[in-house]
Amino acid sequence: MTQRVLIGYANLADAPIEAEVLDAAGVEIVVAPELDSADLPDLLRQADALMVTLQPVTASLMAELERCKIICRIGTGVDAIDIPAATARGIWVTNVPDYSIDEVSTHAIALVLAQARNLFAHREAARGGDWRYLADTPIRRFAGQTLGVLGLGRIGRASARKGRGLGLDVIACDPYVGEDVFAEAGARRVDFPTLLAESDYLTLHVPLTDETRRLIDAAALARMKPSAYLVNTSRGEVVDIPALLEAVRGRRIAGAGIDVLPVEPPAANDPILNEERIIVTPHIAWASNEAARDVRVRGAEDVIRVLRGEPPRYPINDIRVAGVSPHPSPLPL
Ligand code: NAD
Repeated sequence: MTQRVLIGYANLADAPIEAEVLDAAGVEIVVAPELDSADLPDLLRQADALMVTLQPVTASLMAELERCKIICRIGTGVDAIDIPAATARGIWVTNVPDYSIDEVSTHAIALVLAQARNLFAHREAARGGDWRYLADTPIRRFAGQTLGVLGLGRIGRASARKGRGLGLDVIACDPYVGEDVFAEAGARRVDFPTLLAESDYLTLHVPLTDETRRLIDAAALARMKPSAYLVNTSRGEVVDIPALLEAVRGRRIAGAGIDVLPVEPPAANDPILNEERIIVTPHIAWASNEAARDVRVRGAEDVIRVLRGEPPRYPINDIRVAGVSPHPSPLPL
């Protein structure tokens, strides 16, 4: 029987890269953009694999996935997928953790630099014929200031190294990694209150978990320097956005660079889009031509591995240790 991959984020015309890999393996592609087709229950029941980007994959949606062996997240963050529910059903969950480390860390540093040099206000000034240094947002010499990194994983480490390359002192908070990781990133280990208090630029690189949801709330923002900037390229819900708006408006911090929001896209009249000292980008920290290709090829390759009965290259869960046997025999491809 032909195996079927349900792609939940594109119409077929937009999935040529996945098709290169999946067609070559003889797998049929079915597309239900945003997982909202009227035929969805049937499509889910017939899917041997599901590929998603940010679409929620809940336990109740999984209840329809009768033959599915892998839920493949084309991207990094897997917070929209109920992983314990997938494990209990013997479904692998995978992501592509290494497709945009360079891109996201560069974007974080770009937001730091844009704030540090007051780039966008000066662009507006130049366009308006105001050919001078805007003294109301003073610019400080970059070297000698401190970059704080929350989460010293793949992207956090790359951001730390790039920050050091620019002459910043780097401190980081990550209770889950060892001293070797701090040494390799060139970052001094600090606790969370110290990170907040000492950072001139605080860049967030944690996953969204119960522990990190709204970790940057009013109390955390109040501990930051009034001259400090916050940068978030991780997950929108890590920051309490109303509290951030209040902190920036009240000059309790200097500004922010935000690539991710709790609700994406935001409403057109969302105040964060028009706040003078907050730069918002539309969740594009990952983006480059190379990353856009790599993520789809590597995701599709993991789908093929699992449909062949092999373990995936990028597993998030391990269905073999959950006491649930994976689907009995490798299926022919
Ligand atoms: P990673 O898993 O490699 O690293 C995350 C690090 O955070 C780990 O070292 C972990 O120990 C640490 N951590 C977890 N909880 C923590 C806590 N409470 N305090 C401090 N540290 C904690 O992840 P990554 O690949 O570096 O991705 C980082 C973030 O970037 C994720 O949220 C991911 O979803 C996001 N991301 C965003 C984009 C984008 O386009 N904006 C693209 C890719 C990834």
